[in-house]
Amino acid sequence: MPPPQPALPDLLPAAEETTPLMAQYLAIKAQHPDCLLFFRLGDFYELFFEDAQRAAKALDIALTRRGQFQGKDIPMCGVPAHAYENYLARLIRQGFHVAICEQTEDPATAKKRGAKSIVTREVVRIVTPGTVTEDSLLEARATNFLCCLVAVGDQYALAWLDLAHAAPQVQALAAAGVGAALAALHPKEILLSQKLVETPELFETLAQWRNQLTPQANSRFDSDNARQRLLQLYKVADLAGFGHFGRAEVTALGALLDYVALTQKSDLSHLAPPRGITAQDYVAIDPATRRNLELTTTLAGEKHGSLLDAIDRTVTSAGCRLLATRLATPLTNLAIITDRLNAVEFLFLNRNLYAQIQALLKQTPDLERALARLSLGRGGPRDLAAVRDALGTAEQLKSLLLAQVNALPGELAAALRDLGQHSVVQDRLSAALAAELPLLARDGGFIAQGFAAELDELIILRDNSRRLIAALQQRYMAESNVTTLKIRHNQVIGYYIEVSPGQSDKLLARKDLFIHRQSLATAVRFTTVELGELERKITEAADKALAVELRIFADLVQDLTARLPDLRRTAQALATLDVTAALASLAEEQGYVRPDVDNSLSFDIQKGRHPVVEQALKRQPGNTTFIANDCKLDDAQRLWLLTGPNMAGKSTFLRQNALIVIMAQMGSFVPAARARLGLVDRLFSRVGAADDLARGRSTFMVEMVETAAILHQATERSLVILDEIGRGTATYDGLSIAWAVLERLHDGNRCRALFATHYHELTALQAKLPSLHCATMKIREWQNDVIFLHEAVSGTADRSYGIHVAQMAGLPVPVLERASAILQELEARQQALPDIAAMDIKPTPKANPVADQLLAAVATLKPDELSPKEALEKLYHLKDLANNKPS
Ligand code: ATP
Repeated sequence: MPPPQPALPDLLPAAEETTPLMAQYLAIKAQHPDCLLFFRLGDFYELFFEDAQRAAKALDIALTRRGQFQGKDIPMCGVPAHAYENYLARLIRQGFHVAICEQTEDPATAKKRGAKSIVTREVVRIVTPGTVTEDSLLEARATNFLCCLVAVGDQYALAWLDLAHAAPQVQALAAAGVGAALAALHPKEILLSQKLVETPELFETLAQWRNQLTPQANSRFDSDNARQRLLQLYKVADLAGFGHFGRAEVTALGALLDYVALTQKSDLSHLAPPRGITAQDYVAIDPATRRNLELTTTLAGEKHGSLLDAIDRTVTSAGCRLLATRLATPLTNLAIITDRLNAVEFLFLNRNLYAQIQALLKQTPDLERALARLSLGRGGPRDLAAVRDALGTAEQLKSLLLAQVNALPGELAAALRDLGQHSVVQDRLSAALAAELPLLARDGGFIAQGFAAELDELIILRDNSRRLIAALQQRYMAESNVTTLKIRHNQVIGYYIEVSPGQSDKLLARKDLFIHRQSLATAVRFTTVELGELERKITEAADKALAVELRIFADLVQDLTARLPDLRRTAQALATLDVTAALASLAEEQGYVRPDVDNSLSFDIQKGRHPVVEQALKRQPGNTTFIANDCKLDDAQRLWLLTGPNMAGKSTFLRQNALIVIMAQMGSFVPAARARLGLVDRLFSRVGAADDLARGRSTFMVEMVETAAILHQATERSLVILDEIGRGTATYDGLSIAWAVLERLHDGNRCRALFATHYHELTALQAKLPSLHCATMKIREWQNDVIFLHEAVSGTADRSYGIHVAQMAGLPVPVLERASAILQELEARQQALPDIAAMDIKPTPKANPVADQLLAAVATLKPDELSPKEALEKLYHLKDLANNKPS
């Protein structure tokens, strides 16, 4: 949630109680109580009252005061308008929302209303973390999603948008799916109603996003209003053309776009139509799994060390953002995965081609973000140049791809099509833009000479007048006999003649020519009628020139906005080419192979490696080689029970198999010699454990919550990675839980699973569970030392070598010696755990078997896949079960 926003003085003052300016400020501030108000006063944005106190503290700038209100000084601070972006960025990063209030009228017009009238001011934009578009406020290589979460009854929906794509998306969810959906998007800002913030069901999920929440009045989430807003925005009579959206989805989309309109205060007609996403489109990865697998950040929150960091070979920011999105949302649609893999393979086999693509893209500006700024009326001349240059690259890429047009696989052929035909726009921009460009259009000077005759004439006039001024200086030197006389210019008084005080008498003596203006300690300033006249001409010409430039600018922007959908497709094509070339280059550099992904339930990885650990080992002195390992899960060995000493590489092995699935289903080659993978619908990984004290959960509680989620949700198509179940409690409790979980995965979930444990006793279950396979990490004992071979082989480990690892970690020698002695004693007394295989434990009789049956039947229901008729039949079946009648 943004920092609590400042309060206003209680009452808006009566006009006579304050100055007109302060009355205007208070009226505007009253409309934006949740924002810091940047109030434009001349060359500064000023902040007053509590806004000033908060901003001064947050920005570490001086707090001053201006006038009084209700008998007290008004605190004030300000930031220069020409350099406000840096200050704004710091405030946004600290979670503030900022309303930018500009002067929206010329002071001269205001004066016409009376000497005391003040210029009108309006909030032209509200800047929030999810709606920023400036490069200085954005992370170049990260997406910037604004999300809106709503609930209608027990149906939830999440809508989201990155202003750079301007393509809103929406997904219907159950409450339990909200956390996973947010984790996949990693939004910068989440809109939701006050009511939803207070929903107990969401407390835990939302606690993790506390700093991103923007609660809004409940009334902003009205479904009828939302529908109306969408119909108006897209100028349609019905939304059905975009897909079938339920009430929750419509509300989420409507409220999202309403907020964009509110903050941007600009026309949103450029937005693409909304797209519905279903949870089944992507591999379901819950937040814990996402965190544990360190996909985009490590557990410590760093980018370095994450999978994204290890596999990112993109050369543009937009490409990196697309890669991160693909990694965060691996697909379940075989056709699209195959398309992506075909494209990567094509470039992989055409090394020259991907190298050329990367070389071209390397210098390409961020077309997506430039278009976003231009379409929101916030672009500048440099954004036009970015479009020009990106379109130039697009043309060159087209020639490259066209040379192979008949061989191109689907995704590359589509990219070629989407690169589009923009030579007219590009030529126009090339002709229009000068070599050196200012950031803001209002600074002028960005239109190239020769592009507009009207502009060229005005510039000649302006420059001629400037030359005349230079000639005047020579003449006045001669007339006054002061050789050091200078004609200078400043923003406040314009052009003036300046001499040193010692020389001023000579000019004062010529009252017929020189008119005295100012006496300073170091200089005396004069003007002349002629100089005033020339200045007027220069200013007029400059004003006119600027007006012409701004007109041309608006025209060029209009030209681009009219073609936005095509240009956005081009931007997407550039990003797609970058990602595809990057994955091809990664595959070649790291020796990855194309995985065979199909609809089977197979999982056969030969010589698999961990993509992050492998690269980390290579960087280490001595260039250590990563030991590749096979992993085959099938009916005979669907569940692997992995034992082995500490530090032997169990966690690494477990994770690498999960990461290989993610990479394959995002459409990347994988670190293995061969990989055949049946599509995975859900991926679960419980690896390691950490307290979650903020949520009041102990390590063991976290472990159990995550395990519960797996047992409830894993299907036959899922892949489950479990590292150490039941370690955080007493030995027998832990062993019993691990045992029961194993049985459940084997007989109930029937998913593909890897289960690592130090409970070596569990390996005896192999005799009872036919699809359980025991594997161990091989070690060699040598001269009282243990050598880790990091090799996964069939079999079981009999010891954990914990004391050995403790020694490696530097535990004091007396402690190690004592631990060894205790271990020997315990082993001698045979305090080891019981022989599981010999035990035949019957479940405790169930209190209510009917209820259990009923629950089991409900748990396997897949409502989304049922036709109305099937749903009715299921209902009868459940009723029969409840009545204890076989149906
Ligand atoms: P513990 O049981 O203590 O958690 P573990 O068996 O899970 O240990 P890992 O954390 O997977 O062990 O691995 C320990 C270290 O061994 C890794 O940090 C890595 O440097 C190295 N390692 C793991 N697997 C391999 C491998 N296949 N090839 C080379 N080095 C490896």
